[in-house]
Amino acid sequence: MTNWQEMESKYFMHTVNRVPVTLVKGEGARVWDDNGREYLDFVAGWAVNSLGHCHPVVAKALAEQAHTLIQVSNQFYTIPQLQLAEILVQHSCLDKVFISNSGAEANEGAVKLARRYGSHHRDGAYEIISAMGSFHGRTLGMVAASGQAKHQQPFLPLPAGFVNVDYNDIDVIKAATTDKTCAVILEPLQGEGGVNLPDDDYLAKVREWCNEKGLLLILDEIQTGFGRLGSLFAYEQHGVEPDVMTLAKGMGSGVPIGAIMVKDSANVLVPGEHGSTFGGNPLVCAAAYATVKYIIENNVVENVEKVSQYFVGRLEELKNKYNFVTEVRGRGLLLAIEFDREIADDALKACLKNGLLVNRVKPSALRFMPPLIIGSAEVDEAVNILDKVLAAV
Ligand SMILES: *Cc1c(COP(=O)(O)O)cnc(C)c1O
Repeated sequence: MTNWQEMESKYFMHTVNRVPVTLVKGEGARVWDDNGREYLDFVAGWAVNSLGHCHPVVAKALAEQAHTLIQVSNQFYTIPQLQLAEILVQHSCLDKVFISNSGAEANEGAVKLARRYGSHHRDGAYEIISAMGSFHGRTLGMVAASGQAKHQQPFLPLPAGFVNVDYNDIDVIKAATTDKTCAVILEPLQGEGGVNLPDDDYLAKVREWCNEKGLLLILDEIQTGFGRLGSLFAYEQHGVEPDVMTLAKGMGSGVPIGAIMVKDSANVLVPGEHGSTFGGNPLVCAAAYATVKYIIENNVVENVEKVSQYFVGRLEELKNKYNFVTEVRGRGLLLAIEFDREIADDALKACLKNGLLVNRVKPSALRFMPPLIIGSAEVDEAVNILDKVLAAV
């Protein structure tokens, strides 16, 4: 049998430390490796497989579209991207859509838009305030936006025009605002940075400040969007409306797709200023349209809320049982447990041996982001494995 992991080290750039499992098949919340072993998947492609693996509705949309029209240039009108744009606008507070291929690319476009806004409305202002501990993607621009030294340091010098300030502190945003500032970009909940929730009134205060100063508020909902936090978009839970919102991960239940959404008042890009060869092609848009439509029509968001409450309760039981579990945090189906010691790697490996896939978001924390369609039975299965694993570490 081919040793796929050996093949990887021979042929593939080693930019990620992989978990030693080769996955070949998925269905719902389960995946199988090349030895036929089954796993319960609480990583879901990093919060991507919102409807689980190979959901029939998504597979059907892909198959039909693959036999109809896969890709043409954006100089032509194509139908799936328009259907997708319509459903996104109808179910959000934003007015217009641009489709990209990934999250980082959506954020890059949002930054271009904000700079154009600055040149039209703020006398050439171009600086963007972002948060420490944030994650906005891996392009050079988004490395500058993401306030994490480990991602920035190896790639200096970074593009100019980004100011990183502490998360969850309105005063530092105020202090960093100058006449060069055009926008603030934030995650409603920092996912990659460790599942960090801001105070309930943080985004409202930032919104108020942006209004006062004429800055755009860009919400990066790439991880939090499409029901992940128990509402279709996270901004709904904060009583604020962004001027710009970026989306990706859960949008297509697995296909590579992202989006920039903008209010009419900030819709400043004109023909020639932004574009993409693949972005918005019929194939991925058909899958994303099927995904979003399914999420909306089948009360997936309500399921997230219900399962989340149950999951949090069961994780709290583990916290009460094991004194080294110090916190259960997160919202919806983006949850984490924190330990008072660095055991996340060992816990991840032990979970793997017991048939559960989880994410190590920090040396001392595990993150859970299962498909949004799971029920309490899958939660019980996962928590029972975690219980067994924590008893042994
Ligand atoms: C994953 C993520 C990104 C980057 O998305 P890619 O598709 O990997 O480029 C950006 N922002 C947030 C909040 C993310 O979680």
